[in-house]
Amino acid sequence: MIIVLDKRHTSEQKTRLVNFIRERGGKPSEMTLRDRLVVTFNESLNGKLDFLAFAGVEQVVTTQTEFKKSSWETQSEPTRIKVGNAEIGPGRFNVIAGPCAVESADQYLRIAHKAKKAGAHFLRGGAFKPRTSPFSFQGLGRSGLEILAEARKETDLPIITEALDVRDVEFVYKVTDVIQVGSRNMQNFPLLREVGKTDKPVLLKRGLAATIQEWLLAAEYVLEGGNSQVVLCERGIRSFDQETRNFLDLAAVPIVHGKSHLPVLVDPSHALGRRDLVAPMTKAALAAGANGVMIEIHDEPETALSDGFQAIHPDNLEDIIKDLKRMGAALDIYVP
Ligand code: PEP
Ligand code: MN
Repeated sequence: MIIVLDKRHTSEQKTRLVNFIRERGGKPSEMTLRDRLVVTFNESLNGKLDFLAFAGVEQVVTTQTEFKKSSWETQSEPTRIKVGNAEIGPGRFNVIAGPCAVESADQYLRIAHKAKKAGAHFLRGGAFKPRTSPFSFQGLGRSGLEILAEARKETDLPIITEALDVRDVEFVYKVTDVIQVGSRNMQNFPLLREVGKTDKPVLLKRGLAATIQEWLLAAEYVLEGGNSQVVLCERGIRSFDQETRNFLDLAAVPIVHGKSHLPVLVDPSHALGRRDLVAPMTKAALAAGANGVMIEIHDEPETALSDGFQAIHPDNLEDIIKDLKRMGAALDIYVP
């Protein structure tokens, strides 16, 4: 850590700072850079301290990453997450598809088979839905989970579904292959800790207005609990432009890859809220280095109980996957 002292700091202020570091096991050294006194020391002090709170301190520069477990400093190999025969990680591009919500057994199983036929590698679908309005369809809850379990049995595709609340985790855990933590819950710290205690992969969506830093720190909560299987998912952030539902921050993909060994997916459906943009931005996600996409599909979007406007038809999904395979072949990325 590098602490730059104010030009007008007093010698008492400096002594207080230096003694404070020593008392906590640090070995401070002092130097003058231009006209500033700088105190540097090893970062492994007892307890995290806010040096900006000290009188006489102008600037604090940390040389150690805040991302203790998600950064390349702790792991030099990219994380690979195995889910049955599937794998999410480097050199691969997975397509997760399904309707926004599980609406009924007939609806979900019908679409699940179509997703499989189109070439999807995972099934998605919410049983617990985080809806903006309390008057909108909230999901089937636990009976929705039973339908997901049946879809898994019939299609042999792994399931990704959301745990909306700490109290859902044990029920979601029983049926799902990957536990989703949604955008609105990215900073629900008790929920992050709860899924961090499980041994199932966690798909952590980026918060509606979260910085990349906050997103990675949220992942740290899960990793800290002992669960090393975290997949990040960029799903768009709030912006001023009303053309799309959110702003798809595709640059987040290579930025996160630069900072972290965790895999990153892109959800073009929630990011854009427009079915016409799903195909081009899915291909862009592959080009940007994402490890996969999560796409909402529906065969009768007019009747969908949520997000019908952004769902693509399973036939379109089939075309997209064909294009992804051709792109993958050219870029040496395996699209199963
Ligand atoms: C979802 O994937 O079902 C969902 C609600 O997405 P998000 O949390 O990104 O809004
Ligand atoms: Mn949705």
